[in-house]
Amino acid sequence: MKKRTTPKLRIKNLPRFILFSTISLIIVFSVLGGMVTLTSKLVIAFNSQREILQTAAVNSPETNAPKSEPIIMNTTTNQNTKAEPVPQTNDTDSLAEIKSRLRNGDTAGIKVVFLTFDDGPSEHTGALLEMLNEYDAKGTFFTTLHDNDNAKAMYRQIVDQGHTLANHTSSHDYGLYSNPEAFFADVDDLDQFQKTITGQTETSHVFRFPGGSMNSNEACAQGIVSRGWNYSDWNVSSGDGCAEPPSSDVIAQMIIEGCREHDISVVLSHAELKESSREAMPIVIETLQEEGYTFLNMEKDYSYPRHLEV
Ligand SMILES: [Zn+2]
Repeated sequence: MKKRTTPKLRIKNLPRFILFSTISLIIVFSVLGGMVTLTSKLVIAFNSQREILQTAAVNSPETNAPKSEPIIMNTTTNQNTKAEPVPQTNDTDSLAEIKSRLRNGDTAGIKVVFLTFDDGPSEHTGALLEMLNEYDAKGTFFTTLHDNDNAKAMYRQIVDQGHTLANHTSSHDYGLYSNPEAFFADVDDLDQFQKTITGQTETSHVFRFPGGSMNSNEACAQGIVSRGWNYSDWNVSSGDGCAEPPSSDVIAQMIIEGCREHDISVVLSHAELKESSREAMPIVIETLQEEGYTFLNMEKDYSYPRHLEV
């Protein structure tokens, strides 16, 4: 009897067991399903977040920089490789074009400045030359005759560094204008002296009358032109001709404003002799170079402002 009781009980409990198992399985699968769904949602959410972060990283210039570094470096390298000779070629080309335009008189909007330094050389000429060199600017030195070792070295340096060594007579004596013969002898003395000191066979043949051509006369001016020389006055003054010149800032401003009014400016200064004028020059050059002006030395075959035409 006992033996039959147990199977009866088992058989009796079978549907409950199946029901319990089924419910358990449903619960387990539901939980698992829920977990899978949740995990999937979390993965999707994580991926989306990562995408957003990556997009932000690409768009951000700061984080973009290191990512693009090789490209930037390559670009820089390429630019350097290509760019290095390009500006030089452009500089040479544009300089040649400017000079050609000056010779042809095609000067509208050319923005050329001729800095001229009168009455030197002096013990400050070396510093002035150094400054011009720093800015790659050229100047014209209307020298008189100074027979000392420093001056002799300066006549040579002016020529060697590509500036124009020009003639302003030996003596700077206004009295000679009334005697053209004596005047030309004075001009020739300096011309010969310059040739001897510099070793040049020919000088620049660029001339400025002491006090400007308005202090000269037609006979002297005509004589200079008849020799095949050229003479120049100025259209911009530094105002440093007086005993007490203005401050360097005032001089710089005067020159800068004066140059902005002309296609071709010829700046009169005595920067080798006057400190404030000398100190104004870097301000002038820096300011005007940034505005696209070119500082050239004078040549015989350009046209210059003249107060007395012949
Ligand atoms: Zn002078």
